[in-house]
Amino acid sequence: MSDMWSTVLDDIRNQVRPEAFNTWFRPLNCKIEENDNVIVTVPEDFYLSWFQDNYGGFLSDVIREHLGSMPNLEFKLLQESSGRGVPADSFESGLERKYTFDSFVAGDSNRFAHAAAMGVANNPGDSYNPLFIYAKVGLGKTHLMHAIGCEIQKRKPEARVRYVTCETFVNDVVQMLTDGRNADGFRTMYRDSCDVLLVDDIQFLGGKEKSQIEFFNVFNALYGMRKQIVLACDRYPRDIPQLEQRLQSRFQWGLVVDIDQPDLETRIAILQTKARAQQLDIPQDVAMLIATHIKSNVRELEGALTRLRAYLELTKSELTMESVRLALGNLLVEGNNRLTVERIIQTVANYYSVSVKEMKGTARKRSIATPRHVAMYLAKTLTEASYPTLGERFGGRDHTTVLSAVQKIERLCRADQNEIAVDIERLSEILDE
Ligand code: ADP
Ligand code: MG
Repeated sequence: MSDMWSTVLDDIRNQVRPEAFNTWFRPLNCKIEENDNVIVTVPEDFYLSWFQDNYGGFLSDVIREHLGSMPNLEFKLLQESSGRGVPADSFESGLERKYTFDSFVAGDSNRFAHAAAMGVANNPGDSYNPLFIYAKVGLGKTHLMHAIGCEIQKRKPEARVRYVTCETFVNDVVQMLTDGRNADGFRTMYRDSCDVLLVDDIQFLGGKEKSQIEFFNVFNALYGMRKQIVLACDRYPRDIPQLEQRLQSRFQWGLVVDIDQPDLETRIAILQTKARAQQLDIPQDVAMLIATHIKSNVRELEGALTRLRAYLELTKSELTMESVRLALGNLLVEGNNRLTVERIIQTVANYYSVSVKEMKGTARKRSIATPRHVAMYLAKTLTEASYPTLGERFGGRDHTTVLSAVQKIERLCRADQNEIAVDIERLSEILDE
């Protein structure tokens, strides 16, 4: 049946432009089943809806010609299709080769996490164990985990590296518990035959008691053998709800690093790197236009790039500032108002005429401490950064310092006719611009 897919592909190649073929069809995987069910696997989620809307009908037409009847197309994401039980022996690393250190752009927002990841890849089990990476969605956690795994694999081909999402882990636990015979398979997979374990989106363990017990055992076993553990999470360990204390503390035994939203320069570099990888040359002004408007998340940047390519290709337009505006339209107005902690610190510093260095420094003079507290308060209310993250951002303070600053400003704001309340209102307006 896979032969049919290759003839279908040949057919498509003759009907669409080469760029369209490379962008949209080459990355597809397709399984044609006996009963006219056709499972199409796409590599990224932003592909999915766009592809369905624009090429879904075309694809099913072409397949119909080969199949002789109307296919039932079912689209799936690549990662989802790797569902599996607990194999006793066959080894699956779960790594994605495209996520490497080479394709990861380092900038101020991710420098620490990037360096730590390289450190771990160079000396697995030796330097930081576990490495705990946390960040909001779309900022490169999964990319970095695969990069660590791929790099270790490259240096030591015999190393048994295993990447799983926490969801897979939880499913495997459930399967083991419902079918006792699988206990050995589980043990082999996560402990005995595993030299490096990378578990993504570990926040998913929250509230799952049995999985927490199993993960605790796996953790202890691997840690005891000095095998590297890498965890990614959308929040700081302490902020994972319903997670046992003993796991919370173990997650912090090694090194905890976070990734912030990328600054403009990094966003431009990421855009250009991604574009180049797709043989698209983006001039500086265009990269600037996109990166100025799409700020919060690298996945959105990639989405913009995909949309831009699709637009150019479908309308056969040249890449100009104008075509970018037409292609990205609402993307360039929406989603552009998310604030970063750095911008808040900078804005508050300007407002009170103190320096960013003083804001992050230790001086307790009121003329500096007040702006610092105001900035902490605004950062807590206007971003989703946790107290520990804010402590980091404000010059490596303890999270309790930030907490008490925020509470203090809240108290002051409640008092009538307080200057601080006026300042905060004004600052919120400035930050909203
Ligand atoms: P997360 O796991 O934090 O939600 P991902 O690792 O899935 O985020 O990243 C989302 C997308 O953005 C991926 O395609 C990834 O390759 C890309 N990406 C994120 N950060 C970077 C970076 N610094 N350089 C290059 N690509 C990046
Ligand atoms: Mg991820």
